[in-house]
Amino acid sequence: MITVVWFRHDLRVQDQPLLHQAAALGNPVLPLYVLPEHWTQPGPEGINRLGPAKAVFLQECLADLAASLDGLGLTLNTALASPAALLCHWHQGTPLQVVTAEADAPEEQQDINALRTQGITVHEVGTRTLLSSSQLPWEETFPATFSRFRKKVERRGGPQIDGTEGDPRLLPAANPLPLPEWAGSVVAALGAARGNWQRDPQHYFSLSGGEQTARQWLQQYLFEDRHLRHYKTTRNQLIGTGYSSRLSAALAWGCLSVRHVWHAILDYEQQFGGDQHSYWLRFELLWREFFHWSQREYGAEVFRYTGLQLFDHSPLPRLPGNELASRYWQAWCAAETGLPFIDANLKELLATGYLSNRGRQNLASFLVHDLGLDWRRGARWFEHHLVDHDVASNWGNWAYIVGVGHDAQGGRRFSPTRQWWRHDPEAEYVRHWLPVMNGLSRQQILKLHFAHGNEPVWQGYPAAIVSLPESDREVS
Ligand SMILES: Cc1cc2nc3c(=O)[nH]c(=O)nc-3n(C[C@H](O)[C@H](O)[C@H](O)COP(=O)(O)OP(=O)(O)OC[C@H]3O[C@@H](n4cnc5c(N)ncnc54)[C@H](O)[C@@H]3O)c2cc1C
Repeated sequence: MITVVWFRHDLRVQDQPLLHQAAALGNPVLPLYVLPEHWTQPGPEGINRLGPAKAVFLQECLADLAASLDGLGLTLNTALASPAALLCHWHQGTPLQVVTAEADAPEEQQDINALRTQGITVHEVGTRTLLSSSQLPWEETFPATFSRFRKKVERRGGPQIDGTEGDPRLLPAANPLPLPEWAGSVVAALGAARGNWQRDPQHYFSLSGGEQTARQWLQQYLFEDRHLRHYKTTRNQLIGTGYSSRLSAALAWGCLSVRHVWHAILDYEQQFGGDQHSYWLRFELLWREFFHWSQREYGAEVFRYTGLQLFDHSPLPRLPGNELASRYWQAWCAAETGLPFIDANLKELLATGYLSNRGRQNLASFLVHDLGLDWRRGARWFEHHLVDHDVASNWGNWAYIVGVGHDAQGGRRFSPTRQWWRHDPEAEYVRHWLPVMNGLSRQQILKLHFAHGNEPVWQGYPAAIVSLPESDREVS
């Protein structure tokens, strides 16, 4: 019998409950990462799940994990395949048991169920959340809103998290198992998804993937640069280093555990004193927690057009006809909507695989409330591009902005005019991502923003694809 440690979104060796569980089981260990083959194939709307920046980030995470495991005498096995098919195939020749994380999304649960159906013992371990399944602070009904959730957690003085699990133990290595011929190469698949995409550190702040980088950045962010001292004030900014924590990609791929980050913030508070800023970073981690438990509670309902149906809201906006919808969609994908603030955000996401929270809110609102497109297209597009894509946080936030998730107010429309005016007062962000705007004053850029229906008005920059409502025509 061997123990397969099946990594998914927990690509680290420090504070790694999967390795501790494997050690407790006592058999030779085979570490495995399977890139699900359907991620590379077009899904609905023709969008797959592996955009170029995301592919690069994942490749870096896997290289880092392989090096760390190597240091422990273990070899990381990788394959492009259906995870359940590969594990069942191996099990026929070599009896195995599997240690893996609790499922987040329904398709992960299906894989785990398929293994059990084939007689494979699967040990599911909580690696992704602050709370464990036995600590959930609600009895029967999942709290419908974030504030109810947060209050329940905080009323219990929590989350109460035990110390994190430290260094990995030395484990006996299993002999490698041969890959079936139908399994593909992860390196080749990620290389193909990457295409010509290059990270450009001169051009913007960005972090590479992997546990080492993530740990270094956490240390720098909290204890060397001490960016946390201004977090609550700066977290809505759009440009620069340290305005927010930039921990999302490391958390999404599990290069850091959320419990480790939580403890690091507590250490910071111990050293420098807790304040509204350090509290607010923990507050945001509770948002992540909320969406994770919501995802587990509602499963596939999260992906429905009509969402969770928790509140009795007015119907979703009418979808535009096919021709118009296709024109809007093409403009969106090319970052050519003709609204400079929207296009700047789209450009940033395409170039980096990252976007500020403010930028994400504005894009989601614009796609749904101004273009009237099916919100799931936008969510899938984010899923393709974001290096920090996390099923629960992405789909949960989209549904929230549409008004079909946990927002009791029935959705949020952000005025692209006022948002730009307020959060980019010198038009620095717009000019950074749209250099064609260099040399234009802020008022001139605003004119372009309102130029719906006209011919291209500035060096080929397109006219706005939609006319904004009258209420959006004033700025102060
Ligand atoms: C439409 C939309 C889609 C999003 N998709 C994702 C996604 O796929 N993955 C993702 O991690 N976040 C997502 N977010 C949440 C948020 O925008 C990012 O977590 C944040 O911008 C990442 O930057 P940061 O690490 O510097 O955040 P910080 O402001 O430093 O926050 C610290 C951490 O708290 C968590 N967090 C913060 N805000 C949220 C939130 N609103 N919801 C859930 N968790 C939050 C993240 O883990 C983040 O890393 C989305 C938000 C919107 C509006």
